[in-house]
Amino acid sequence: MMKLAGVYIEGVWQHGPCPLSVINPSNEQQLAEVAGGDGAAVARATLAARKAFSGWSSSTGSERAKVLRTIAEGVEARRERLVTLQASNNGKPLAEAQLDVDDVIATFCYYADLADGFDAGQDCAVALPTDDFVARLRREPCGVVGLIVPWNFPMVTTAWKLAPALAAGCCVVLKPSEVTPLAELELAAVIAEAGLPDGVFNLVCGTGIAVGAALAADPRIAKISFTGSNAVGVQVMQRAAETVKGVSLELGGKSSLLVLEEADLELALELACLGGFFNAGQMCSATSRVLVAEALYADFIVRLKTQAESIRLGDPLAGESDMGPLVNHAQYQRVHKHIAAGLDAGAQLLCGGSRPAELPCGYFISPTVFTEVPLDSALWREEIFGPVLCVRSVASEAEAVALANDSEFGLVASVISRDLGAAQRVANALEAGLVWVNAPQVIFPQTAWGGYKQSSIGRELGPWGLSAFQEIKHVVTAR
Ligand code: NAD
Repeated sequence: MMKLAGVYIEGVWQHGPCPLSVINPSNEQQLAEVAGGDGAAVARATLAARKAFSGWSSSTGSERAKVLRTIAEGVEARRERLVTLQASNNGKPLAEAQLDVDDVIATFCYYADLADGFDAGQDCAVALPTDDFVARLRREPCGVVGLIVPWNFPMVTTAWKLAPALAAGCCVVLKPSEVTPLAELELAAVIAEAGLPDGVFNLVCGTGIAVGAALAADPRIAKISFTGSNAVGVQVMQRAAETVKGVSLELGGKSSLLVLEEADLELALELACLGGFFNAGQMCSATSRVLVAEALYADFIVRLKTQAESIRLGDPLAGESDMGPLVNHAQYQRVHKHIAAGLDAGAQLLCGGSRPAELPCGYFISPTVFTEVPLDSALWREEIFGPVLCVRSVASEAEAVALANDSEFGLVASVISRDLGAAQRVANALEAGLVWVNAPQVIFPQTAWGGYKQSSIGRELGPWGLSAFQEIKHVVTAR
């Protein structure tokens, strides 16, 4: 079993006082012990970041771009190790873990390109309605930032925050999820070798209470960028409010896949399975409500059952597994509770709903599909974060849109139709930050990530992800 340092401050790896036990969810065995940090480690990390800030914030864009590209190259060089760690710690099948690594590389390269553009564009002239004054606009790094990430896409979420924060010129204290620190620690090792000045990047592994809450409260931190559950997001925001910190929040979802009357049924089935069962459904963007045009519904559910039952569950490290286990025992129990409550509420189980008999060990739950789900049930309304789909027949396009929008969340949606006019009309009517039309959940660094309503505050990726770490300064000078 690996014993790993879980704190990295001012260029030095350290063993913190709070041990974290890291489990392989496919066999329930301990994979590693990580010596995590506490509030004192957060204070030291923040101080180190503060000390490094004046140097890093005055570096040129091209200097920052160079480091970001070195990180991208380092991630590529360690691809195999990162994939294996991600698969064994998260339970992701190898093919999914590969996609995470691709995403991390693309994100660092994208923000390297944006950083390269800073030097020419740092001071922009601003048109004024008078000749008596001239004004220029500068975008400056907002300071030391705290990045708090969840366990479902740990490396990707980290990259989406860290790459723009470093590109902007911020210094960083990163807190990985205590459930999945292993790939994060490997990524941190890549970053440690990329040529950043000491103190620009710091990491403190640990629990939410010991480390995350301390970060949110630390007055030297200018901004918290948080991805995780709504309950914790609210706590982070409350704590951050005490010192009037900026917050970016990426929270939960209860998203829909809308199968319109002109849909290609094959494609709809494929995307329903991807939207519900990729990463064992542990996605904030899971399209866990499937709304199917009445004319297609009967055929759709028969074929969805067959397709869901053909998904091969097993060891994520075995190439033939399509789906792995849930991330840990707590999540396994939580999803079971939702399934039981759904049955109690009168929903009809079409398939799945329990552990596959051939996998007695590990946190496996078969792909699960419910029909006849009451609209006021927790199964229909709450984020389940497991491989559970609720399918419903809809009488019209308007009903599909109304049902999709009837949620406190508004992260993403998918629309399937050969009638592109109808699909685009529906996409425009949906309250969601990202809508895919006839497409899987492809994510580009150029397009924003984030949602409406209680799913998000702010946007990640694209230039929006960068401006989240920048302050706007205007300098107005009399002629
Ligand atoms: P979580 O909220 O339990 O934990 C997220 C992070 O916050 C972890 O690092 C945790 O240690 C830390 N934390 C816990 N308590 C804290 C506190 N009091 N103060 C500060 N930090 C604290 O979430 P999770 O279970 O790791 O992840 C699943 C959730 O994340 C789901 O709700 C999912 O929808 C959401 N998520 C959202 C997005 C998005 O982009 N919108 C992406 C991925 C996951």
